[in-house]
Amino acid sequence: MIEIDDLHKEYTLNADNNTVFKALKGISYKIETGTFFTMLGPSGCGKTTTLRSIAGLERPSKGQIRFKDQIVYSSARNLFVPPERRGLGMVFQSYAIWPHMTVAENVAYPLTNKKMTKAVLKNKVEEMLEKVGLGGYGDKLAPNLSGGQQQRVALARALVGEPEILLLDEPLSNLDAKLREQMRHELKHLQKQIGLTAVYVTHDQEEALAMSDVIALMYEGSIVEMGHPVDLYENPKRRFTASFIGISNFLPSVKHPRRSQEYVCVENEFGRFLGKDHSTAAHDHCDLSFRPHNVRLLREQTEDRLNTGKGIVTDLLFLGESIEFYLVAGNKKIRVRTHESSLPREGEEMYFTIAPDKCIVFDAEGQSSSNAHIREKELA
Ligand code: ADP
Repeated sequence: MIEIDDLHKEYTLNADNNTVFKALKGISYKIETGTFFTMLGPSGCGKTTTLRSIAGLERPSKGQIRFKDQIVYSSARNLFVPPERRGLGMVFQSYAIWPHMTVAENVAYPLTNKKMTKAVLKNKVEEMLEKVGLGGYGDKLAPNLSGGQQQRVALARALVGEPEILLLDEPLSNLDAKLREQMRHELKHLQKQIGLTAVYVTHDQEEALAMSDVIALMYEGSIVEMGHPVDLYENPKRRFTASFIGISNFLPSVKHPRRSQEYVCVENEFGRFLGKDHSTAAHDHCDLSFRPHNVRLLREQTEDRLNTGKGIVTDLLFLGESIEFYLVAGNKKIRVRTHESSLPREGEEMYFTIAPDKCIVFDAEGQSSSNAHIREKELA
C-alpha cells in the first residue's frame, strides 16, 4: 500500500526575489497493494514530479509519503528515506541500460552487492529474462537489441531485486505503435502475475485506459478526478475528464425547467435532452456532453420527442471499423461515430437519439464554481 498525503512541491525560479513555481499543489491518494495505478495528464501537470517524490529522487516541499507502515517522507517529522532504502523498482522512458555489458550483466547489476552464490544469481537472472520474454538473450551485448528488447532488459533489471512497488515513467513512449500496444498487454500481465503494485506515468489516455485499475487524472499540479477507467470514461464527474479522456461533444445549451427525479433537462439547437446533472454553477447556461459513439441513428422521424434530434450529414470519414461524421443544425454541429453498414450520404437529413444516461450536463466552459482555471480542448 502506498499513501500520499497533501504533497506539495515548489521549485525556486529566482532566489533573489523569492519567485517559486508550484509544481504540486496538494496531491493525495492511496494505492492498494497489487493495483496498477496510473497518473495521467497533459505535459507539465506534475506526474513525473510526483513519481520522483515517491522514488526519493525529488524532495517535496511539504506532505507525507508512506509505504505500508513505513513513512519514507514527512515534512512534519523532517524525515526523508533515500531512494536506495525505499526498495523500489524503476523503469524510465530512456532505458538507461549499460552499453558495455551483456544483457545478463545488466539484469544482475542491482544484485552485485547482495550476498548470494553465483549459481543463485545466474538462476534469478535467467528466471527474470524468461519472464520478460528474453530467455536465451543473456549473452548478447545490450546495445545490439531492438528498442523493445532493451526496454524489457530495463524491466527485468527493475524486477530482479523483487521489489513490491514498481515505478514506471512513460516506459513505452520510445517504442513504435505496434510494439507499444503489445507491450501494454505484457506489462499488465507481468504486473498481475507477480502481484506488484505499479505506479505508472503517461500522457497517453489510451494507454492509461487499457492498463490501469485506477487512474488519477491530473492538471496543473492537482488531481482533477480519480477512478476506474470505465467510470472516468463513461461517467466523468468533471468537464476536463470528459474532454481529456476520449472524445466528447460539448453542445452549448440552456437548462429547461422540466426535470425528472434522476435527470436535468436542457435545450439546444437540436431539441430537448435529459441528462445527468454534473453542473455546479447557479445560472442556466451549460453544455450537454456525450460521446460520438453514443449517438444512435434512427430510421423514422421523431418530431418533438425528448433526447432526439435531426441534423444534416457533413464531413463523412470512413475509418475502417466505423464511420464518423457531423450532424449540423443551425450553426451547431455534433460529432457522430457509428458502426452501421449503410453509409449515410453527405447532405442527407438524419434523425438521432442519445439515451439520458449517456448525456451529462456540465457547466459551460470557464463557468464552473471550482477549477474554473481548467481550459479544455474542445470540438469546434
Ligand atoms: P509532467 O511529468 O506531468 O510532464 P513534471 O512533473 O515533469 O510534469 O513537471 C511539472 C512542472 O514542474 C512543469 O511545469 C515543469 O516545467 C516544472 N519543473 C519540473 N522540474 C523543475 C525544476 N527543476 N525547476 C523548475 N521547474 C521544474
